[in-house]
Amino acid sequence: RAAEAWDHRFEQGQTRDGHRIEVAANLGNTAHAADAVTRGAEGVGLLRTEFLFMAHASAPDRETQIQEYRQAIEALDGRPLVARTLDVGGDKPLPYWPVPQEDNPFLGLRGIRLALTQPEVLDTQLEALLIAAKDRPLRIMLPMVKDIAEFRRVRERFDQLLAALPETERATDVQLGVMIEVPSSALLAPTLAAEVDFFSIGTNDLTQYTLAIDRGHPELSAQADGLHPAVLRLIQMTVEAAHAQDKWVGVCGELASDSGAVPILVGLGVDELSVSARQIPLVKARLREFDLMTGQQLAQQALTQATSADVRDLLENV
Ligand code: PEP
Ligand code: MG
Repeated sequence: RAAEAWDHRFEQGQTRDGHRIEVAANLGNTAHAADAVTRGAEGVGLLRTEFLFMAHASAPDRETQIQEYRQAIEALDGRPLVARTLDVGGDKPLPYWPVPQEDNPFLGLRGIRLALTQPEVLDTQLEALLIAAKDRPLRIMLPMVKDIAEFRRVRERFDQLLAALPETERATDVQLGVMIEVPSSALLAPTLAAEVDFFSIGTNDLTQYTLAIDRGHPELSAQADGLHPAVLRLIQMTVEAAHAQDKWVGVCGELASDSGAVPILVGLGVDELSVSARQIPLVKARLREFDLMTGQQLAQQALTQATSADVRDLLENV
């Protein structure tokens, strides 16, 4: 398996019958972008920018952020970068951005909700990304969005920032999208798809919130399986809504590198899989093992199952 994976490093992601799936890297550190490219990344599908904020004693200023993002953008050499705006709170506290004591931090001030309490920090980040990605493709996505109102608040600020920066000094190939990781956003995907540029499904949180299982729970997390038919139905709704509006959909949660899940995600119509860099060759090799129609048939069967165990049983011979 390892030798086979090695052979596929520099080939594009595609199924056995040639259906294209972009295979991108999840990164927590911009210094790792070059390594991801070496392993065959077709882009970065999720840059977790919170790690940059966690590495500093206070919010990094615009120049510091520009330098940091440039490192990834230069290593990508024209491949797209999907940068997620600061996603703290919940399981990821930021010492200099204290959140009041909460009984349920995962249901509290986290992700875009927290960022919107200090929108000037978000503005600085958006500006830094736009400047760092001058002449390069830039996709920005917002974490934990629950409905269109949150997206519109950011879109409005973003459009003002775009208008204020001369086109010669910033990225012009820019998309603004949202993560789908709260069930309400999957259910309301048609209203979001009309206004966002793309979706990226965060299956770690989407599974946690759909099944009501803490993703880090020592005893229960094994049951938090993204192949649960309830999660798959939300993914299906998301993809259908996006494609109806000609928007693309990625998956950047752990499910994207689960060899059993790959054919189902492809069968549901996902356009991009973003996985940790070391999984890239394996995911490309996995894609070449099945045809699109096999994935589609499997996805249809999976959607009608009762439990994630039933879905996993379907996968035995794929
Ligand atoms: C997710 O929730 O699936 C995701 C990719 O975001 P994170 O794991 O950083 O919360
Ligand atoms: Mg998440």
